Amino acid sequence: MKEMIIATKNNGKAKEFKEFFDTYHIKARSLLDLAEPVEDIEETGNTFEENAALKAEQIAKQLNLPVIGDDSGLEIDALDGRPGIYSARYAGEQKSDQANMEKVLEELKGVPKKDRSARFICVLAVAIPGKVTIFKKGFCEGEIAIEPRGENGFGYDPIFIPKNYNQTMAELDPVEKNNISHRHDAFKQLEVWLKEIAR
Ligand code: IMP
Repeated sequence: MKEMIIATKNNGKAKEFKEFFDTYHIKARSLLDLAEPVEDIEETGNTFEENAALKAEQIAKQLNLPVIGDDSGLEIDALDGRPGIYSARYAGEQKSDQANMEKVLEELKGVPKKDRSARFICVLAVAIPGKVTIFKKGFCEGEIAIEPRGENGFGYDPIFIPKNYNQTMAELDPVEKNNISHRHDAFKQLEVWLKEIAR
């Protein structure tokens, strides 16, 4: 494999993917790098896998090139897995990190520490024209804090305490967060797959 399209218009995400593929001498381009505009694809799936595949497969078909898509979110056990695939817009379409965290904390009011277990999930889907889509799933286990702490990161980082840590994700050094993140876990598995197909 020589090139890969990253199914995102998010610059931060694109940069992370490009750095990863660089190591394997795969030229990765995001939707922002393409001359032809690609229509936004709605996340209408019911699972992280469906949403990641939707993006990757539809764009792979349009461009006839290998495409990687991703979907991620936070799964809280005491809330039966919510916010899950609705993580970005849990408190409404305005997609406010602050409002999303407040909603989660309100729903967990009175829930003791031992029952506040949660995990970040990241699913990567690689769609190669004419082949079956490949899925890699990464996890980061932890629990939901009583109140937000820390300034780093984004999304639910201020209320997520990773397993074996006292700090929230937003209090950790970004390099440290990166090393234990669900995305990193998924990338590690993608790496195994890339090495296998390169043999
Ligand atoms: P998407 O995968 O870009 O659709 O992101 C889904 C949502 O999950 C984000 O908007 C965040 O609310 C949440 N999320 C995903 N990864 C992280 C993370 O590393 N930290 C905090 N929140 C995250």
